Amino acid sequence: MKNNSRSKLSVFALGGLDEIGKNMYVVRYGDDIIVIDSGLMFPEEEMLGIDVVIPDITYLVENRDKVRGILLTHGHEDHIGGLPYILRELNVPIYGTKLTLGLVEHKLREAHLLNQTKRIIVNNRSEVTLGSIRASFFKVNHSIPDSVGIALETPEGTVVHTGDFKFDMTPVNSNMADMHKMAEIGKKGVLCLLSDSTNAERPGFTGSERNVGEALAEIFRTSKQRVIVATFASNVSRIQQVVDAAQDHNRKLAVIGRSMVNAVNISMELGYLRVPPDLLIDPDEINRLPAHKVAVISTGSQGEPMSALTRMAHGAHRKIEILPGDTVVLAATPIPGNEKTVAKTVDQLYRVGANVIYSANSSNGVHVSGHGSQEDLKLMLNLMQPKYFLPIHGEHRMLRAHGQLAESVGVRPENIFICDNGDAVEFFGGKARFGSKIATGKVLIDGLGIGDVGNIVLRDRKLLSQDGILVVVVTLSKNNGKILSGPDIISRGFVYVRESEKLLEEANRIVTQTMEKCANERVSEWASLKTSIRDALSRFLYDRTRRRPMILPIIMEV
Ligand SMILES: [Zn+2]
Ligand SMILES: [Zn+2]
Repeated sequence: MKNNSRSKLSVFALGGLDEIGKNMYVVRYGDDIIVIDSGLMFPEEEMLGIDVVIPDITYLVENRDKVRGILLTHGHEDHIGGLPYILRELNVPIYGTKLTLGLVEHKLREAHLLNQTKRIIVNNRSEVTLGSIRASFFKVNHSIPDSVGIALETPEGTVVHTGDFKFDMTPVNSNMADMHKMAEIGKKGVLCLLSDSTNAERPGFTGSERNVGEALAEIFRTSKQRVIVATFASNVSRIQQVVDAAQDHNRKLAVIGRSMVNAVNISMELGYLRVPPDLLIDPDEINRLPAHKVAVISTGSQGEPMSALTRMAHGAHRKIEILPGDTVVLAATPIPGNEKTVAKTVDQLYRVGANVIYSANSSNGVHVSGHGSQEDLKLMLNLMQPKYFLPIHGEHRMLRAHGQLAESVGVRPENIFICDNGDAVEFFGGKARFGSKIATGKVLIDGLGIGDVGNIVLRDRKLLSQDGILVVVVTLSKNNGKILSGPDIISRGFVYVRESEKLLEEANRIVTQTMEKCANERVSEWASLKTSIRDALSRFLYDRTRRRPMILPIIMEV
């Protein structure tokens, strides 16, 4: 018998599955849609000229009258970075903790969206009613303070989203996780748990952030000259430890890098970073103090070419240069894909005479992950005791590994759903199954444009970067269609012109022949003329050079 008064519950991701980044999860019961997080992802190498990638939100735009709000788990880019683009198309209220919204507000102000966006601060005691769904929050440990997991009570059962988390028994700033509350939620019954899979392949527990503090203290104590620490601007807990180490070892601290300055200011303002009054110095003062009295915190832990650290290493930073004897700490591990740029920066730092401490050569741990390892993940599963399990945040193999962990603590294998973006899991009457697929995708952002760079533009950029461009200019007579001047061929990034005169001469002849042939066949439409030139030239050049430069015919009539 069908019960019409009840709706089904569906849960799916618009981003964040089978990838690291652009996290966006959707929970829908009947006509109520809740979105969790709105992240961005940094582009892969082959996406030339693309600045960021965000999830395709067509589904949400099409159902805009049903979207009750966006709930945020924490203030990292892969969870909030998409908001300035997404809120432009979807003006819905956003809910987050104080620090998370502080970081969001800065972004919205830059995007001129601050006034039109309704923002509601929540904490671990808040309860928010969003249509038929009730949201509550529990504190988790992560590398940024004020991170929460979210419990959504729906008529069909409770869905829990952990956000990014680990269990840290001695967190910085005594930001204890709400383990009691998690157990309570679990005791009341969890229909489905969505949990962070980033470190699901790593055995054991993830170390405490406090360990990094001890390692830093040792470095600050023993270094004879300046200490420069590079880390993520978003890792506020790590910044706190650098502040503490500087204070404890009588060094003044300069903050370098736009995003680092920004993160320090916002976190201090909102009380998430405690900095003694006269600890911070202006970068201009660095050189006025003795080297052993100075520490610097900076961006650039990923060896990003334009970051402060890389510029310092190359003597290209306006305020500070790395000197022989300086100690440089890279307090972060390379994100997969960044290993090469990090290695290059480390090389350059050694070249200028610095002592470099980074993940590969330090056994004393200048970095611990913000994500739980296998034992952390099992602990979460045991606290929540979910009936169904949906691993999130991670590439496919991590989701698989997390699924196995769930099985090992007693979740039934048939109740574990390993999903891709857009795979909807539907719950009805306590039973779950895969529903119809939701359309998902990537939206590429290039400068200020949103999604105006499609596959064709990307293909063009790839062609240009690999094989260069050839511009063919021909001037025709308006009266009889005869060639008045040209064809002139201009090439860039294709062949070295002086050594390829013969090739270009032949190319010239090909164009002339093609135009004559077109004239004989009475083809006078410019579009077909251009296509003929492009085809003939492309065939000829590929024959001779095995390259396919972009060919741009320009026809003028006078
Ligand atoms: Zn995070
Ligand atoms: Zn994350």
